[in-house]
Formats: sequence, structure tokens, C-alpha cells
Amino acid sequence: MTEVELAAGNPNVAERRSNVRPRGSVPAEQSALFAKFPLLFRAVASQEVHPSNIGNFGIQCGTGWYPLIEEAARLIEHELLEMSRNQLVQSKNIAALEHAVLMENTGKPYPVLPLCTDIQQVNGALAIVIVQGFLVDPVVWQRVLAVVHATREKSRAVCENCGVPGKMRPVYWRHVYCEDCIAPIGPLDDEDE
Ligand SMILES: [Zn+2]
Repeated sequence: MTEVELAAGNPNVAERRSNVRPRGSVPAEQSALFAKFPLLFRAVASQEVHPSNIGNFGIQCGTGWYPLIEEAARLIEHELLEMSRNQLVQSKNIAALEHAVLMENTGKPYPVLPLCTDIQQVNGALAIVIVQGFLVDPVVWQRVLAVVHATREKSRAVCENCGVPGKMRPVYWRHVYCEDCIAPIGPLDDEDE
């Protein structure tokens, strides 16, 4: 709200702000991802129901990997939509849900359908954590896992900072970066030779 008022009252101030803080768009990019895939990222909007790292800390990796996250999220969100149409309407599942609600037998919230609880860089690769969910179809769940695994493998060759092809930089950070993103320090891998 404050930014809108600033922009309306004094466009120069708003423009300077955006020039000074080019990385200020990171939270906006995260919000856009979360909004695009509301089923997968519902822990972000419903932290009181599903306490999670992604709800508390957001996406914990460089923005160069956001296209990989979006690609994976699109595939998984599609599976979740199909599941919500197909699984929830089955009478045995409705009865099982009603039983869970009646008995309050979980002790803690457990999702009905899979949801994402964490996205972060782990040992230089992109880790997307998905909780399985109460009503997940085992076949669909294998497809979801396959997307998660494929995304992790792809990330090993993508610069975490800017998204172009990169490689693991084991010497200092154990992160995947391109040559440009390790400047001005230089190509660290060559120092070993
Ligand atoms: Zn880069």
C-alpha cells in the first residue's frame, strides 16, 4: 500500500527505489510463484494449519533456480488438481476423511493432498520437499517424486544465481554457479591445477 501511494504521489521516488534495489524483486518473484500454484504452496498461505519452512522462510535458494521450481511446480500442481477432482469424490476417501475428522486421530495437521513444505539448496542441488498427504494415489505419488528428483538433477548444471548453465564449485561454496557469477574472484576450479 505504501509503495502504491509513493508511486502515485512521486513517481521519481518509486523509480529510484527500484533502481537502487534491483534484488528487491525477490520476494515478489516468490509471491508470484506461490500465487500461481496455490494447491502445492498452500502451506505458505495457511501457516496456522501447516507450519513449514517455506511458510516461515520462503524459498531458500538463488533466483537462478526459480525457472526450475516453476517447471516442477506446474507439473505437480496439475497432478494435485487432478487428484482433488478424482480422489476427493470417492466415497471411501470421503468416509476416511470424515473418520479422521471425527476421531481427531492425527494429533497434528496432516495434509489431505500432497503439499510443499520446503525448498532449499542442499549440497549444491535444489531440494523440493513434498509431504505425501492422506489421500494420495500411489501411482501419482511416484510421478510427483519423479518430478522432484528430475528437478534436483537438472539443478546440478544450472547456475543458482542467474540460471544459465553452470557447474558445481566445490572449493568454496559447494554451489552451482556459472563463470560470470563467480567473478571477480575468478574460476576457482582452475586453482587446483
Ligand atoms: Zn550465473
